[in-house]
This record gives sequence, structure tokens and C-alpha cells, in this order.
Amino acid sequence: MNTRTAPSTGGRFEVVVAGGGPAGAVAALVLARTGRRVLLVDDHADPSGTTARFTIGETLPPAARPLLYDLGLWPHVTADRHLRSTGILASWGSPELYDRSDVLDPNGHGRHLDRARFDASLRSAALAAGAEFRRATVVRHHTRGSEQQILLRREGTVEELLCDWVVDATGRRCNIGRRRAARHRQDRLVAAYALLDRRMPHDRGTDEDLRTLVEAVPGGWWYTVRIPTGRLVAHLTDTDLAPPALRTPTGFLAHAARTLHLRTRLEGYAPPPAAPRWTAAHGLRLSPPAGAGWLATGDAALAFDPLSSQGILTALHTGAHAGRTVDLCLRGTVTEALTEYTAFLDGIADAYLGHHAYYYAQERRWPTHHFWKRRANSSTAPGQRPA
Ligand SMILES: Cc1cc2nc3c(=O)[nH]c(=O)nc-3n(C[C@H](O)[C@H](O)[C@H](O)COP(=O)(O)OP(=O)(O)OC[C@H]3O[C@@H](n4cnc5c(N)ncnc54)[C@H](O)[C@@H]3O)c2cc1C
Repeated sequence: MNTRTAPSTGGRFEVVVAGGGPAGAVAALVLARTGRRVLLVDDHADPSGTTARFTIGETLPPAARPLLYDLGLWPHVTADRHLRSTGILASWGSPELYDRSDVLDPNGHGRHLDRARFDASLRSAALAAGAEFRRATVVRHHTRGSEQQILLRREGTVEELLCDWVVDATGRRCNIGRRRAARHRQDRLVAAYALLDRRMPHDRGTDEDLRTLVEAVPGGWWYTVRIPTGRLVAHLTDTDLAPPALRTPTGFLAHAARTLHLRTRLEGYAPPPAAPRWTAAHGLRLSPPAGAGWLATGDAALAFDPLSSQGILTALHTGAHAGRTVDLCLRGTVTEALTEYTAFLDGIADAYLGHHAYYYAQERRWPTHHFWKRRANSSTAPGQRPA
């Protein structure tokens, strides 16, 4: 590694939060508000969000509103240029489309987010509450007695920091937790996705349907959604079942064109300029999610199949809970606080598994196709297959 270790410059923090997505930003916010000296570290973003890359995971469900309101963050959501989400259209279990509107939801509409803006606004709120921020990669974590040693790398320089607790909010990478606990994956679900942001030259149409469209197909399922920067389209399947054609822009669109309903949403759009991107999308669980001096939150602790549309909400909830838990640990009630945190995550995981099993059981049209057969036969409990 072509790096050098610089003298530690950052002083000593009570807490270092690794990862500045929704979970990490909210954990840092809660800790800063309790008066803790906290450092939020993210390898990609800066707090303004200006250089952030496109992040998948865009629909904020209505149920997130009370939590964001309680945290004083709801005005950020309404002030930014996120789009209202007006519900879901789904062809799941039948070729017909059924409509589930958000109109009757007591929490009002959800939002289709500009994720870079949303995540940046959460980080800004944490900084305004007193958290410090560093753009760097957390490369190592060691426990030395009662101290946590963190190594950060930025532009070829490695810096050492000391703190009392470290929060792993690095998302599915689970940079710290994966070295300290077992990771269990639910299946081999992956997503291939593309952002359509250019209309065909001759096209005069507009694209104003703000409902998410979900469509099951023999090899998995598709979804598409309008977001502030264009239209996102994604195909979910298992790693070993993914057709090679999905790897090129034209192959991806040709595949999408075989759907019954989704294809109509893509009309008028030019093919994506680059090859579709891929990301892991399977359920994932870290066990245990915490130990002496460290704790995982958000996707690092518990990641969901995107069919749930609950990932951001769960990251916000578990991030806030992680912040409160670390504060309690710093006050000395470590065993009780970590036991309660683990039970809180267990409750969320159990509810997720119940919903996951229920929704996949609704689709019975292709019982012999591998994708659906695996889900019909599986107990759906993440915990059986080491990641
Ligand atoms: C295909 C797909 C579609 C989805 N759609 C939705 C949806 O519609 N609605 C929804 O609610 N959820 C959705 N999700 C899930 C949602 O995106 C995640 O649950 C959510 O982003 C988790 O937030 P987080 O803060 O835990 O992690 P992340 O958002 O992944 O943030 C982690 C941060 O840590 C940083 N990081 C990682 N490693 C390091 C390191 N070593 N050092 C420093 N920084 C590091 C990363 O750069 C990142 O900024 C979807 C997921 C997938 C895969």
C-alpha cells in the first residue's frame, strides 16, 4: 500500500461514526445533540452533497414522516426538490395491475428522493448539531483495552484516531462489523439498474406518473420510478440467473421491453449512456450487531430485499436508536443498552421476514422457474447462509 502514516491530528473523539448515509448521519446527529464529541466519516460524500454519486434507494415511505418530524428533519425533506410519491402500481401474482395509493395513508405522501440531496441534508443537520465531518475511508478498527483505534485513509495518507465507541454505518460493506461478527445473507438477489435522463430527440411527451411500478416476470421482477433526476429502472434477479444481455444499455432496454406494463413507462426515453450498474440486493444480517466498543446500524446491521421499500426508514430508525444506545453505553450501562439494541433489531428483522414470505408467496405463476421456486422453498430466514 503506497501510504504513509501521518501524526494523529484530529484529537480524541468519544464516538466515530463510519459511513455518512442515512443511518450514520442520524446516529451522529443524535449523539451530537446529547453533547458527545462525534466525528462522522464518509469515503465519498462531502456534507454539501455536491460531489456525491448517484445512489440507488429512492422511495421514502410515508411512515418515515413521524420520525423525521421528531428529529426536526422533515422541513429538509419538504424544502428540497424531492418528488411526491403517490402510490404503487403492481403486477404481482397476476398480469393485471393493481393500484395502492398513498392518499389514505395517515402520514400523507411518501417521497421519491434525490438521494444525494437527502443524504447531504441529514449530514448537514448532524454538523449543525455539533458533529465534525471528515471525507476519508475507514480502513481499520482495533480495540486496545477500553480504547478504539481507527485508521482513516485519504489521498494516500493514513491517519490514526482514538475514540471510546465506533458506529459501523458503512451500509452493505459493513466494514467494521464484518471482521467482528458473522454475516448471514438471505439469498442471491442482485439489482441491475439504469437511470434514464434523456428523451429521444423526436419525443415531445412528458413523464408525470409519480407511482412506482412493480412487475413480476419469470426470472425475477422489475421496478421503475420517477425521481428528480429522471426515471430509474431496475431488474431484480439472482446472481446466477441474470441474463448476460442485461450488461449493455441496449440489452437492458430490450429485456425491459418484454415486460407487459413497465415498458410503457420507458417510452420516449433514450437508452442510458452507460452500461447498467449492479448492486447486491439480498437480505443481510449481522450477528451479533454490537460488541464491546462497537455497534452496527442501518444496512450494516440489517439490509432488506428492496421489495420491502423499508431500507431508508430502517436506516433512520436504527441510526437514531444506535445514537441513543452509544450514549447510554458511554454513561456506563453497556450490557443493558446493547441487549436492548439487539432486541430492537430482532423485532425489525422478524417483521421483515414475515412480510417477505407473505409477498413472495403471492406470486405463484411460475412455480418451476428457479427464481420463484427458491423463494417458495426457502424459509426466508437470513441466518442460514454465511455471506
Ligand atoms: C436496488 C435497491 C433499491 C432500493 N430501493 C429502496 C427504496 O426505494 N426505498 C428504501 O427505503 N430503500 C431502498 N433501498 C435500500 C436503501 O438504499 C438502504 O437501505 C439505505 O441506503 C441504507 O442506508 P445506510 O445509511 O445504512 O447505508 P448507505 O446508504 O449504504 O450509506 C453508507 C455510507 O457509508 C459510506 N462508506 C462505506 N464504507 C465506508 C468506509 N470504509 N469508510 C467511510 N465511509 C464508508 C458509503 O460511501 C455510504 O455513503 C434499496 C436498495 C437497493 C439495493
